[in-house]
Amino acid sequence: MKKVVKFGGSSLANAQQFMKVGDIIRKDDARRYVVPSAPGKRYAEDVKVTDMLYQCYAKAEAGEAFDELLNRIKSRYEEIIGGLGLELSLDGEFAKIREMFENKAGTDYAASRGEYLNGIVMAAYLGFEFVDAADVIFFDKNGALDEEKTNRAIGKRLKSAEYAVIPGFYGSMPDGKIKTFSRGGSDITGSLVAKAIQADLYENWTDVPGFLIADPRIINNPEVIESITYKELRELAYMGATVLHEDAIFPVRKEGIPINIRDTNDPDQAGTMIVESTCRRPKYTITGIAGKKGFVSMNIDKAMMNSEIGFGRKVLGVFEENGLSFEHMPSGIDTMTVFVHADEFEPKEQQVIAGIHRAVHPDSVDLESDLALIAVVGRGMKSTRGTAGRIFSALAHARVNVKMIDQGSSELNIIIGVSNSEFERAIQAIYDIFVTARL
Ligand code: ASP
Repeated sequence: MKKVVKFGGSSLANAQQFMKVGDIIRKDDARRYVVPSAPGKRYAEDVKVTDMLYQCYAKAEAGEAFDELLNRIKSRYEEIIGGLGLELSLDGEFAKIREMFENKAGTDYAASRGEYLNGIVMAAYLGFEFVDAADVIFFDKNGALDEEKTNRAIGKRLKSAEYAVIPGFYGSMPDGKIKTFSRGGSDITGSLVAKAIQADLYENWTDVPGFLIADPRIINNPEVIESITYKELRELAYMGATVLHEDAIFPVRKEGIPINIRDTNDPDQAGTMIVESTCRRPKYTITGIAGKKGFVSMNIDKAMMNSEIGFGRKVLGVFEENGLSFEHMPSGIDTMTVFVHADEFEPKEQQVIAGIHRAVHPDSVDLESDLALIAVVGRGMKSTRGTAGRIFSALAHARVNVKMIDQGSSELNIIIGVSNSEFERAIQAIYDIFVTARL
């Protein structure tokens, strides 16, 4: 058994957190490859080391004094090293970083030092080998990940390392310069390592009990999803539910390696399993609910639209010409509705309306704003009768007016459009009918 274990920043924010992580790793011999983030927040108002590094480098780049801030970053690591009782000095590393900052080594180099240093500390603490991500994760000259080269390099390098720490978040460009992924990118590193070594499991340890059925800012104490498929996860993540970096699922998904989201502060809980497919029945008919506010719908009316070949293409062509992507497009006999993101659409609305008039000569074009979309997602819906019925009667009882319904033929999700002001109430009603009432 081989497991890759990735720990997020809050799991490594101080020495106490490091000790919890150490216990987790030592408890299971299969936890052989560790991918750490940079130290995160120790308390709500604290600043993540990655953010401190960005700030520090901005000063260096502007030619301002940055020593004080760099020293504060250094003391974050010293606090961890001291708390763990390690014989480790980062003086040499910080002298090098200081010099590189003075020589304007780049924002990405600066940000990457958070995980680089944490990797060194983690390797010393665990007695594992340290493998610099710059030597095994590669980007091409356009800045895109070079998956092939990376996969080969990790596989080859880790063949000779039975237990290793590989810092998350960065790799190197063809010219050797450091480049980072987007924020939260250590999740991607973990996934790449899991793929390359053909891990049995990719454990992603964080500060939440798993993927939640609904947003805890809306639902009080929502239940954890026990198992979710990659497809369901994509649907929910697209609608705003996030635990993992979006790009982290692709490398392992291609290999059929499951991801297990776990809570460092509650390691006995099973967390959420993210899998390609499973015959295990979900606990409830629905797997999760997610949604977003801030949509606009455009209603286009034209008598006899249904028999006009090419109508839809011409309408969508106008959106395309204006660089707008659309979210959903329910249609009636003589009407077609297009949902778009309000913030992208607003600056271009008059161009789009004029474009539609020119392209299809509609009878009328109406806009409705302040709309929210809610996705009710679940592989269990396919085999259950009456799911839609239950959703809509729950919404009716909660006095929510449904403005749009869209169910794909995959039967994996039902998308519901409501007004922004009824968004929270709608989610509560759907959660209650499936989870609280255990239907
Ligand atoms: N430390 C980086 C960030 O704050 C990357 C990560 O945590 O995954 O975004």
